[in-house]
Amino acid sequence: SGYHKVLEENRKLYNQIQDLKGNIRVYCRVRPFLPGQARSFSSVAGIEERTITIVTPTKYGKDGSKSFTFNKVFGPAATQDEVFSDMQPLIRSVLDGFNVCIFAYGQTGSGKTYTMSGPKALTEESLGVNYRALNDLFNLKAQRKGTIDYDISVQMIEIYNEQKGLAVPDASIVHVTSTSDVVELMNQGQKNRAVGSTAINDRSSRSHSCLTVHVHGRDLTSGTILRGCMHLVDLAGSERVDKSEVVGDRLKEAQYINKSLSALGDVIASLSQKNSHVPYRNSKLTQLLQDSLGGQAKTLMFVHISPEPDATGETISTLKFAERVASVELGAAKANK
Ligand code: ADP
Repeated sequence: SGYHKVLEENRKLYNQIQDLKGNIRVYCRVRPFLPGQARSFSSVAGIEERTITIVTPTKYGKDGSKSFTFNKVFGPAATQDEVFSDMQPLIRSVLDGFNVCIFAYGQTGSGKTYTMSGPKALTEESLGVNYRALNDLFNLKAQRKGTIDYDISVQMIEIYNEQKGLAVPDASIVHVTSTSDVVELMNQGQKNRAVGSTAINDRSSRSHSCLTVHVHGRDLTSGTILRGCMHLVDLAGSERVDKSEVVGDRLKEAQYINKSLSALGDVIASLSQKNSHVPYRNSKLTQLLQDSLGGQAKTLMFVHISPEPDATGETISTLKFAERVASVELGAAKANK
């Protein structure tokens, strides 16, 4: 029967989830050089399945290179489809009542928005995680029709200078039944982000933007209720701002971004270390995501880096941040074997 099929499918899914080893995973993605960009040497010396090696000026590493290990590294040739396929079990688990949080972290221009939403000129191949995730959920929902009844709704939130705002006003939580509903909403949200901002690109790189998906399911046989939630977060650019060069609003923005990204790093590190106190309250971002970080929730952090040698300083600091978040968990996973 359909119900047994779903159970069988779930068993496979749970096995895959068990394989994830712990609740926090970190993936690294390297952006390719952009068309029209002057050809230059890449700061990436090597990529293996789980390790990335960066060419370093002497001040960053003694032998002129430094390696970092994550759960997975995607090189510049990785397609949107490859990246998404790898996270599919995680996303599907939302329909089984898990909470999931996916972040895109990195300096401005490193490819965060490309991963989550896709490029400005969207094609079917270049669709980002947000679209693919929703599409997957709708397909699974259709497959389980008659067995489990699902209700899916989404919410778009922007955090700018520690202030939380709804990207789509008067529509805090919107019920959606197809990906086109979601696309329409995202476009609306994108437009609203531009209001009151002279330089929209600038502004969007300095705010955190979050697409939250709420799932409510009812098993028609047993009446069991399943609730799952997924946050898809395009974080503000992580670049350090030289305090001597910015003043006023820019300085304030930089300080808020700094504060919230460190708070996020602290929360994830503290979860990895299984500390009893997790400092969720230190920023709006971590407060918003609290229900999807820790406990049974699954977290995936996508760290993005640019290949340009000019960016090496930021690249190293991005990878160090990510390693701090990842290494404890990788270490713990090893210890558990
Ligand atoms: P961010 O969101 O980190 O500021 P973007 O996603 O806007 O960065 O990426 C900067 C530029 O690089 C955009 O023009 C984007 O389309 C392009 N880009 C980023 N990642 C890739 C990729 N994997 N393949 C092709 N182009 C990419």
